[in-house]
Amino acid sequence: MVTPIGAHLSIGKGLKSTADAAVEKGLEALQIFLRNPRGRGARKLSADETDYFIRVIEENKIGPVVVHIPYICNPAAAKPDVYEFAQQVITEDLERCSLINADYLVLHPGSYTTSSPEEGIDKLGGLINQVLENYEGRTKVLLETMAGQGTEIGRNFEELKLIMDRIEQKDKVGICYDTCHTYAAGYDCSNETGIKDILHKMKTSFGLDKIYLVHANDSMKELGGARDRHAHIGHGFIGIEGFRALLTDSFFSQFAFILETPSEGVDADVTVLKELRMKQ
Ligand SMILES: [Zn+2]
Repeated sequence: MVTPIGAHLSIGKGLKSTADAAVEKGLEALQIFLRNPRGRGARKLSADETDYFIRVIEENKIGPVVVHIPYICNPAAAKPDVYEFAQQVITEDLERCSLINADYLVLHPGSYTTSSPEEGIDKLGGLINQVLENYEGRTKVLLETMAGQGTEIGRNFEELKLIMDRIEQKDKVGICYDTCHTYAAGYDCSNETGIKDILHKMKTSFGLDKIYLVHANDSMKELGGARDRHAHIGHGFIGIEGFRALLTDSFFSQFAFILETPSEGVDADVTVLKELRMKQ
């Protein structure tokens, strides 16, 4: 199987033009927000635009289709109103995923802020269990690996294992591996030896079968820097050789690689990743 290369695109001009842009850019997988990433509220999606989106995506064999939850959501929040807002958005977006046939809904595990990591993990697990209780669609929820900024949870594989342990419907929840975040958290994917070590650590923590997707971003910050700053491929510490090693690794190359690099320059990143996956 050839590793699908995709990117996060804006839906600012509507779902129809997003689908057209994905085709025009030669994307083989796609990630979008289904609402304004930094604001509240979501526009209703018309059948006309969802039908068009689904048709164009299918005709061009683009997949997986991924929806990302807005960054302002904190599903591990100590404050009740912040927590309830996150639950409402995740519930709504999961339903909206069904309207566009999305494969995955990706979310950041959140920050424990004034409580403790244990409490944050417990709150997040509880929220996901509740959201999934009444959900009958096929979209899977994926938790993203985090850089460990501030009080973020999901900063290491042990914490992700604790979160996964808390999940009741285990077949509906997985993990999205973000290369920039994990690098900043101290997992070195810039060379083959480092990648072997990462695979071993995943196997002995949450388990390799939990991974469904890769977020392919280079890192502006150094290994273990605990800062989340995405760089264009080859312009950060992971580098071209790191992405070559990831794309030729028999485990990582099974999953779609979705770019979340700044939109100017993302076309070049798509080209680079497509070239790297061919070379051994
Ligand atoms: Zn990401």
